Amino acid sequence: MNEEIKQLTELQVIDLEIAMFDAEINSEQDELAKRVEAFDERQASIIELKDKIEAAEAQRREFEAELSDEINRIKERQSKMMQVQTNREYQSLLKEIEDSKKNMKEKEEEIVSLMETSEANSKIMAEQENLTADEKMALDEESAKAKKQSAKIERKKKKIVKKRKAMAKHIDTAVLRNYDMLRTRRNGKAVVGVIKGVCQGCFMSIPPQHFNNILKGDRMLSCPICQRILFHDPETTEE
Ligand SMILES: [Zn+2]
Repeated sequence: MNEEIKQLTELQVIDLEIAMFDAEINSEQDELAKRVEAFDERQASIIELKDKIEAAEAQRREFEAELSDEINRIKERQSKMMQVQTNREYQSLLKEIEDSKKNMKEKEEEIVSLMETSEANSKIMAEQENLTADEKMALDEESAKAKKQSAKIERKKKKIVKKRKAMAKHIDTAVLRNYDMLRTRRNGKAVVGVIKGVCQGCFMSIPPQHFNNILKGDRMLSCPICQRILFHDPETTEE
């Protein structure tokens, strides 16, 4: 095999390993992010419930103020009744008192209903708060574990990145640049074997003349379809 291609295949082994470490770190972080998101959603639903309870409380206070207004109005009418002269006036006051009483009854019912709803919401909120307290603890634990795990992977990665740098020094700059470009565009695989005349990157047949040149192994040649750097893989071909 061409010496440069050999160096690149060795570099590719390292690069794939680095990519695997990166994927491990990413999946670790994704998992944690999902859990944080679920936690945040629960927190948001608690805040929503709290707002609902507060709004119901404000409404209840308003109704109670209206209720006490009605009581005052009734008292006022009742004292006026002592001084009325005509039956018409008397009937009119009586009607007003009846209306007030009717209003009071409605307000009282609404207050009871608001209190019942708030009570139910408070109960749900307490349950949710209990759950988040447990979840927060689990999440903190999980987060610390993920951080530790990521650091462990990072340490391994650092070692291998150092090795990569040392290896890359021995490779021609232009060749390396081409390899790196292919690597990013071709999902990490820049150098692939040719088995029975088929590129193992894109699985297309290599034209016979081109394949013959690859067989010679004296030059660096690329796949005419996917541009990956090709080498002949005799071991696999013989299988
Ligand atoms: Zn190809």
